[in-house]
Amino acid sequence: MEIKKAEHMGFCFGVKNAVDCAVKVLDEHSKIYSYGEIIHNRDVVERLADKGLVVIENLEDSIDKIDAKILIRSHGVGRKIIELLNDNNIEYIDATCPKVKSIHRIVNKYSSQGYEIIVVGDSSHPEVIGIAGWIEGKYHIADSLDEIKALDIDKDKKYCLVCQTTFNNNIFKEVVEFLKKNDYTNIVTNNTICDATIKRQESCSDVAENSDIVLVIGGKNSSNTKKLYELCKEKCDKTFLIENYKEIPYKYIDKNTKIGITAGASTPDWVIEEVIQNVRESE
Ligand code: SF4
Repeated sequence: MEIKKAEHMGFCFGVKNAVDCAVKVLDEHSKIYSYGEIIHNRDVVERLADKGLVVIENLEDSIDKIDAKILIRSHGVGRKIIELLNDNNIEYIDATCPKVKSIHRIVNKYSSQGYEIIVVGDSSHPEVIGIAGWIEGKYHIADSLDEIKALDIDKDKKYCLVCQTTFNNNIFKEVVEFLKKNDYTNIVTNNTICDATIKRQESCSDVAENSDIVLVIGGKNSSNTKKLYELCKEKCDKTFLIENYKEIPYKYIDKNTKIGITAGASTPDWVIEEVIQNVRESE
């Protein structure tokens, strides 16, 4: 059996920072709130919940009951949430990833200057909702080339385009190519896909190309993990998205199998190691 790990995988800087912030506060206090799940990984969320992390989904409804600090996760939030916390004198720790913050600054600057904003990404993803919360005027959200085409972009208006940090880099390239080809010189395009995402996507494809089976480890509700799954599946039909070692598809593995391993940005090392150890023990 051959196990090949992707060169880049697992916890990214932004997610690690948010988890470290939560752990540090919980070392000193018995409770901290997280606005939304701090990380799309059930194992990590359960461990932190045992230490005192409480997830709140709707801040407006819970604002009167807050009796501890709030952690803003790496996805970030819109301006209104920050104002709500400040207006209610609630202490918060802002663990928004700096790369996401820079998108907030871009959309805020351009929208204040009259540009319409185009966000390439998933409209239901918290990062995209947070980005939209810093836009001063009209904006559009599109998560595919077809949706970009359907926007009916007016060549007489000014637009600024940004992208969700974990978006599929290949689809983003297609969007940029389409805009170039159709002479949309009125669009300021910012490739805001994060390096960590690009490196993880490129190295997962390399591994998948040379594997009989690929295990993509991560939360099934994690956007960046799902992108890794899609990319690996293009190269290797036997690609499986698993949350932890309990979901290893043993029936496809024997002593001659070449196994590729990759993991989403919200998958900690210990979850990856548990998978590898269990795969080896099945030999
Ligand atoms: S994927 Fe990139 S932008 Fe998103 S949290 Fe991680 S480092 Fe930050």
